[in-house]
Amino acid sequence: MRNVYAADRPADQVCGFGGVVGVKTRLMMNRDARLEENQHVFRSANERLSGVVEAGVVSADPVPFLCECADEECMGRVDLTLDEYRELRSHERQFVMLHGHARTEGEEVVAERNGYDITKKPS
Ligand SMILES: [Zn+2]
Repeated sequence: MRNVYAADRPADQVCGFGGVVGVKTRLMMNRDARLEENQHVFRSANERLSGVVEAGVVSADPVPFLCECADEECMGRVDLTLDEYRELRSHERQFVMLHGHARTEGEEVVAERNGYDITKKPS
């Protein structure tokens, strides 16, 4: 399988890949905006992952999605089936993260599942 994890990491964490967010841009953003940006980077990696595995995976098989918490150092994995992931993503402001991981301000846990939380950002 293609390495879908590394491609969307910020450039200052992974050598050899151009991150989607430049270092300069990151420094200009305030902390919370930067954390949210980070979550979106992980989310787009997860979207790509779901597209890559979709063809070859039985929908009941767990897929190691990335933790979408606000900690940019987090390398956590959340095992979800594609169906679980699709259901989660059917709500635009919902994110998935390992239980107890960092959330941004106003982000609330809306469901606790087996080892992970589903959170929702304020609109
Ligand atoms: Zn995390």
